[in-house]
Amino acid sequence: MLRARRGLIRGACALCAPVTPTSVTPVGARREQHSTCNVVVVGGGIVGLATARELILRHPSLSFSVVEKEKELASHQSGHNSGVIHSGIYYTPGSLKAKLCVKGASLCYDYCDQKGIPYKKCGKLIVAVEQDEIPRLKALYERGLQNNVRDLKLIGATEIKEKEPYCKGVMALDSPHTGIVNYREVARAFTTDIIEAGGTVLTEFEVNGIEMVKESSADSLEGMKYPVIVRNSKGEEVRCQYVVTCGGLFSDRLSEISGCSPEPRIVPFRGDYLVLKPEKCYLVKGNIYPVPNPRFPFLGVHFTPRMDGNVWLGPNAVLAFKREGYRFCDFSATDFFDSVTFSGLRKLIFKNVYFGIGEMYRASYINAQVKQLQRFIPELSVSDVLRGPSGVRAQALDRDGNLVDDFVFDGGTGAIGSRVLHVRNAPSPAATSSLAIAEMIASEVEQRFGL
Ligand SMILES: Cc1cc2nc3c(=O)[nH]c(=O)nc-3n(C[C@H](O)[C@H](O)[C@H](O)COP(=O)(O)OP(=O)(O)OC[C@H]3O[C@@H](n4cnc5c(N)ncnc54)[C@H](O)[C@@H]3O)c2cc1C
Repeated sequence: MLRARRGLIRGACALCAPVTPTSVTPVGARREQHSTCNVVVVGGGIVGLATARELILRHPSLSFSVVEKEKELASHQSGHNSGVIHSGIYYTPGSLKAKLCVKGASLCYDYCDQKGIPYKKCGKLIVAVEQDEIPRLKALYERGLQNNVRDLKLIGATEIKEKEPYCKGVMALDSPHTGIVNYREVARAFTTDIIEAGGTVLTEFEVNGIEMVKESSADSLEGMKYPVIVRNSKGEEVRCQYVVTCGGLFSDRLSEISGCSPEPRIVPFRGDYLVLKPEKCYLVKGNIYPVPNPRFPFLGVHFTPRMDGNVWLGPNAVLAFKREGYRFCDFSATDFFDSVTFSGLRKLIFKNVYFGIGEMYRASYINAQVKQLQRFIPELSVSDVLRGPSGVRAQALDRDGNLVDDFVFDGGTGAIGSRVLHVRNAPSPAATSSLAIAEMIASEVEQRFGL
């Protein structure tokens, strides 16, 4: 039985490499075609791993499997992000994002302390460089207070210089509890917890079917106990009672294959980073962010120190032609067709055509991106930066072209739909919030499925 099988953790994570995430492989040369467990979690990103960990810690007598399509865990959004532990300033008071970010950040720091995972509470300044940004900055301050973000304060130009000597600004919101961490390390620690608690992690298992057992086998003992089949194209299957999907960029497709709603749809947005040359890293001490444009869900290009001492600048946001396409030229006919035939995306493009063109221009020309960054650090020049890695965001969109801003979790109806819970939208700050999201999903699973 696969259930009894444990995973092996191997390989160290080079913090500065584009991505060398956690590696878990099943022990043994071959795995069985067929195994059983109580709950399957689809998706080995930080949300899926945190969820499986929480479930297994709460229910040690039940069996859990994580199935992940890649060879490595945390290969996508969880391994391609800014690495910021957000404090919870931006989000609408009362929203899931606001609640789960504030709680998640605190849980994340505690977890890192407990596991010895390095992090830095280097703080963050959200900087207004023009007078007309001040009202929006003050509104953010109020919002942060409503969200119970601790120790926020508004500071003037002199204090900005004290904290960030090379940064220019008229006013800033100082968030001292914002930090940085390598989320791949956090994901790796979650995996260790899962395996130590007796869970199973199966990599290279791309789910292409979630269905009920056939009528003919439903009355067999196993068919009655494990009525849901999670299968891949290699003919392997895990039979289980319940499924939780945490598919990131593929959350809509996973929902669709289980007969649940394909909406909200996911549209991929690539974000490219520039990297400061090592001899110029002195220009940045902590996180420096712009005052965000309220029309967009992205926080704007920022300066972010990394745990390895590098400093990343970015990311921008351009429509990607492939869901997991990290390079400008990456193209998938299926993903492209899916995006352009979706009326929601066409409406979004129509509403934001100038912003979109601007982002594509800045993605193509480093000079244009540096110019945007010079608003904050005038001393920065094109010769100080190199092109860096990219990430792809899973942006959920409704059919009217509205960006779905908050976290979304839902199931379906009917035999299969009532046994599945989908994490439909887990955008930034879901890495920060992962432990709090996991607590919420685990409680939802208990309530829905009577675990
Ligand atoms: C550029 C960028 C910067 C960001 N910066 C931050 C930040 O600073 N702080 C922060 O808190 N958040 C940040 N985020 C957001 C954060 O990274 C994500 O919200 C979080 O990683 C989402 O985790 P996830 O597990 O839902 O998704 P993912 O990490 O994408 O994981 C989903 C997993 O599901 C797997 N999967 C998909 N389909 C299948 C299938 N059919 N079968 C099996 N497996 C499947 C995928 O391979 C993948 O491993 C950023 C995101 C991006 C893209």
